[in-house]
Amino acid sequence: MSPADTPPYKLAIVTPCFNEASGLEEFVRRTKSVCAQLGCAHEIVLVNDGSRDATLQVALGLAAKDPAIRVVNLLRNFGHQSAVTAGLDVADGDAVVLIDADLQDPPEVILEMVAAWQAGADVAYGQRRTRAGETRFKVFTAKIFYRLLRGLTKSPIPADTGDFRLMNRHVVDVLRSMRERHRFIRGMVTWVGGKQVAVPYDRQPRFAGETKYPLAKMFSFALDAITSFSVVPLRLVTYLALTIILLACVAAALVFVVKLINPHYFIPGYPSIVIMIVFFGGVQLLALGIIGEYLGRMYEAIKARPIYIVEQVYQSHDGRLVGRVPPRGTTGPF
Ligand code: UDP
Ligand code: MG
Repeated sequence: MSPADTPPYKLAIVTPCFNEASGLEEFVRRTKSVCAQLGCAHEIVLVNDGSRDATLQVALGLAAKDPAIRVVNLLRNFGHQSAVTAGLDVADGDAVVLIDADLQDPPEVILEMVAAWQAGADVAYGQRRTRAGETRFKVFTAKIFYRLLRGLTKSPIPADTGDFRLMNRHVVDVLRSMRERHRFIRGMVTWVGGKQVAVPYDRQPRFAGETKYPLAKMFSFALDAITSFSVVPLRLVTYLALTIILLACVAAALVFVVKLINPHYFIPGYPSIVIMIVFFGGVQLLALGIIGEYLGRMYEAIKARPIYIVEQVYQSHDGRLVGRVPPRGTTGPF
């Protein structure tokens, strides 16, 4: 469907929330004002990802006043990417915007994203010009991560982008059919293809609360990204193994030749043996480790557990807030 000739479109805004009670009202206020400027039908899907603060209460309070707000309450904390997936599965709109709750991504940028969509883009992704209020370390590691990812993967995942983006219905539907467990959504969206355009913006400091992505989580996120989109690490092991075998053959040939010339040249020594054992032990462990990474992922994929579990979905009908359990097997708007 081309948005240009369908003025009454509906925009869905999906926001994962984990301990965001202090900033949520402000987020909804600013997002609503953007929707008012667009003058379109809209819904805001707030996914409560097992928050331990009052996020659910605040969200339900907002939903009680506004039928355009739906609250998807997950049973526990499933992580950012799973929470986004839960939101995408229920979001009902001609276009869906993914945006964080902390106002680091200014909702006003949605105006430009919608303009890009109406000009024919399938995906309009926010690209960070600057990142205010984030530590140098985070900015530096993010930079290295995106460069590394570009070098290792075939999908041209754009640098300096997060999940802040608008996607048309078609892209969302394809994305929803991709049920892999280790999810790197921005990479999966790139993989889908279509016309994807960048909307530059300046990332703001958090409005309230603190980041939920400590170093360890960022590392595992990077590992998910690389292993979901690249088999280069596996191939590196093969190259390494081939090189070592070749070197060993050359060394064996050299030893043979030297022994022919001077049979007493080599004194049998422990050090060389120990070094060899340690060296090959290390190589084998490395290979096993990398194979294990992929094997672990296959194991989880084979188990095919749900990526998230919805407790209830709440929405106001005729001024009354109603919570419903999604029908079994639902993966779409209901
Ligand atoms: N988030 C979530 N579940 C988590 C961690 C984060 O739903 O386990 C949400 C969080 O509430 C926010 C968004 O994901 O809306 C991005 O998280 P955060 O701002 O902590 O990440 P950063 O911007 O620091 O990378
Ligand atoms: Mg943030």
